[in-house]
Amino acid sequence: MDLEGALNTDFKQGLKEEDIKKRRSHFGWNELEEGEKQSAIQLFFSQFKDFMVLVLLAATLISGLLGEYIDAIAIIAIVFINGFLGFFQERKAEKSLNALRELSAPQVTVLRDGQWIKIPSKEVIVGDIMKFVSGDRIGADVRLIEANNLEIEESALTGESLPVSKTTDEVAGENIGLGDMENMAFMGTMVTRGNGIGVVVSIGMKTAMGQIAHMLQNAETMETPLQRRLEQLGKILITAALFLTCLVVGIGVIQGHDLYTMFLAGVSLAVAAIPEGLPAIVTVALSLGVQRMIRMNAIVRKLPAVETLGCASVICSDKTGTMTQNKMTVTHIWSSGMTWQVDGTGYNPRGEFYQNEKKVSPGQSKELQQILTFGCLCNHSALKEHEDSFALDGDPTEGALLVAAMKAGIHRETLLNQFTIEKEFPFDSSRKMMSMVVKDQQGKRYVITKGAPDVLVKMCQSVLWSGKLQSLGKEHITIVNNAIDGLAKQALRTIAIAFKPIGENTVILHESEAEKELTFLGLQGMIDPPRPEVKKAVKECREAGIKTVMITGDHAVTAEAIAKQLGILKGNAKVMEGSCLNDMSVEELEDIVEDVAVFARVSPEHKLKIVKAFQNKGHVVAMTGDGVNDAPAIKTADIGVSMGITGTDVAKEASALILLDDNFATIKAAIKEGRNIYENIRKFIRYLLASNVGEILVMLFAMILALPLPLVPIQILWVNLVTDGLPAMALGLDKPEDDVMRRKPRHHKEGVFARGLGWKVVSRGFLIGAATLISFMTIYHRDPNQLVYAQTIAFATLVLAQLIHVFDCRSEKSIFARNPFGNMYLVWAVISSVVLMLAVIYVPGLQSIFHTVSIQPRDWMLVIGMASIPTFLLAGSYYLQKRA
Ligand code: ATP
Repeated sequence: MDLEGALNTDFKQGLKEEDIKKRRSHFGWNELEEGEKQSAIQLFFSQFKDFMVLVLLAATLISGLLGEYIDAIAIIAIVFINGFLGFFQERKAEKSLNALRELSAPQVTVLRDGQWIKIPSKEVIVGDIMKFVSGDRIGADVRLIEANNLEIEESALTGESLPVSKTTDEVAGENIGLGDMENMAFMGTMVTRGNGIGVVVSIGMKTAMGQIAHMLQNAETMETPLQRRLEQLGKILITAALFLTCLVVGIGVIQGHDLYTMFLAGVSLAVAAIPEGLPAIVTVALSLGVQRMIRMNAIVRKLPAVETLGCASVICSDKTGTMTQNKMTVTHIWSSGMTWQVDGTGYNPRGEFYQNEKKVSPGQSKELQQILTFGCLCNHSALKEHEDSFALDGDPTEGALLVAAMKAGIHRETLLNQFTIEKEFPFDSSRKMMSMVVKDQQGKRYVITKGAPDVLVKMCQSVLWSGKLQSLGKEHITIVNNAIDGLAKQALRTIAIAFKPIGENTVILHESEAEKELTFLGLQGMIDPPRPEVKKAVKECREAGIKTVMITGDHAVTAEAIAKQLGILKGNAKVMEGSCLNDMSVEELEDIVEDVAVFARVSPEHKLKIVKAFQNKGHVVAMTGDGVNDAPAIKTADIGVSMGITGTDVAKEASALILLDDNFATIKAAIKEGRNIYENIRKFIRYLLASNVGEILVMLFAMILALPLPLVPIQILWVNLVTDGLPAMALGLDKPEDDVMRRKPRHHKEGVFARGLGWKVVSRGFLIGAATLISFMTIYHRDPNQLVYAQTIAFATLVLAQLIHVFDCRSEKSIFARNPFGNMYLVWAVISSVVLMLAVIYVPGLQSIFHTVSIQPRDWMLVIGMASIPTFLLAGSYYLQKRA
């Protein structure tokens, strides 16, 4: 039985949707089994493995055994609630990271019910007919049934990094190694050239990759530089907190406090002051930011990119599709010195032809007929009519050629009955052309080539001028070049078409044999309007200190015209052609790179040079790309950006950011969000650390001044849980400050405490500690017998001082710079913290647990007054400074 029969499929129609379910129950999903994961219970218990928490639990247990039941139970409860919070935070972070991975999971194109559709690779089933092009990652093991110049890189399987040529021929022999199975394409390998079609023979763990899958389960680490820095900082902070706590305990004991009380207070203080939750909150803030980015059509594949985005100082972006709409329409056709205009919009194949503003019938001109026919034939896309509108399956440039031909009544389906396509040399952006070998009904064979005019013209030796073959001399070249320039100046994308007849027996194996000694036929010029939002995005980037550079394979004049429309090319900025880069070293490019705003006729190899030159100049570079050859540049860039719609799997996998809508404006939005996320992280680091400093200092000062403990252990733990936890989370959800896109990019080596953050932490922390102590001393000295009352006052002052300070943390400038109600999460977090504090102070049952008594109304003046000082004192000084 043949393969089609054996797999019970149909090479022309694919599988039927109704059969999928049955097959699924038999074959399962196309997935590789995952490695072991941490279970929820393991994750929960990992929250308590922190040394100080264990010491606290042990100490509490001892106090419980000694009869302090209420204290013991309350402390254990708080530790558990804290553990639950940590657990949920980590679960949330993990879930959103998993969701991200799913979103960026590859898709494949399969034939179902006669239609080519894209489905997630997971849904592929045995018997599916799968199509792939250069840049795709193969989604299952397939037996090839069509291969056009197909080359596949199989290093993931065989370790061999050179691509292997594939064919559809039988491979004979026994025990053939994977590397020699030339008619097979394997799951996980990468198409580096050409295109092909195959039938799926195995999926999931049954594939060659599945059999070695256990070797590949090392998930990429997703730690960001800031997280790493915080981890290092965490160690310093732990040491400092432990040292200070020991100091508090030591001085306390020397001053005559009871050792046991001091021990419990010290451990509680250590638990509260050690910012063990910081990395988890940072992850949550990062992943929440990442979710917001998804809503803006930007998928972050690598978490560190979120931070790097905020440092970006140059965006190198493709033009076609990213800055323009990639909705091409042919508007001008040029051949033999004559120009035709075509009207109509989009992919609707209705439109008229004009010459010198007079309507003409396209059938009357042989030149026009021929150029439209060849443009339509040397093509790889298809136009589908769907309820009166037309959708394109394939490359928009080729779609435009199909539509132009259809406007003249030339249809690809009809042509395919008249011509047989013998061979195809697919388009690639290094050659900038594509060719086909075709045979007509009389047995005459031709090579048809279409591509970038300035490149293609060099491959031509003759020109078809008004139906006559003439050699392509200087004179003709000048005329052709003028025609190209004329179209390009109107911001049109140009495609030239050439051909050559070949003998009956001429064998053409390589594109270099096809793409030479051609006859030039003419040009088609198409509009590709800029995306309306890009101009504003470019302007905003400029205000944010970010330079936009257009890097395009398109003609220099076309690129220049569009760059001017978008405001990218301004003042003395230059346009540079890719060919100039060939002989230039990175060092030479460095000297001029900052003056260039447009790189045109660039090949993917040039992109790497451009990235490096900018990086050597100290820039943080975001670079877009979609093709397989763009991967090295995308990987080298600080932020590799790939296209969700037109991008290849290779480019996507190399990138850190995927633009779901292929839109330049989305890069700007992601940068803004990246800046915001980083600022929010700074906000809560500042809040948490200043709070911790305050908590430690109030205890330390009290011990030095030979005072009783201003706060009891359970109060310290409560402050840590409620006052610190909720508002810090809410800060992570804050909106950006108005001027976030008017500041210069952050320096990528900037430390956690840069831009005055360290000073803010210490000064605010000191003031919070001092204010709390003053409140405590005022009441304690009024009546030393009312220690519990004085402690309650200290507790209330500390809590309120922190809750006021949290609003100051929202701005780099001052508390007055922002509307306090601008972040309602924060307002609610603060309100709930205040309500909980009042409950702890006034509810009789809680009073005995938290060692509090009711505060008399007149003493609230003291509490509120002292709590306001840390924030308003410094805000006032800022205000005065600004006025001065
Ligand atoms: P960008 O790099 O901004 O996306 P681009 O799409 O113009 O720009 P390429 O895809 O490398 O870059 O195309 C370079 C040139 O090759 C185009 O200007 C066009 O003249 C020609 N070209 C593009 N697509 C095809 C195609 N399918 N067949 C033949 N020639 C093409």
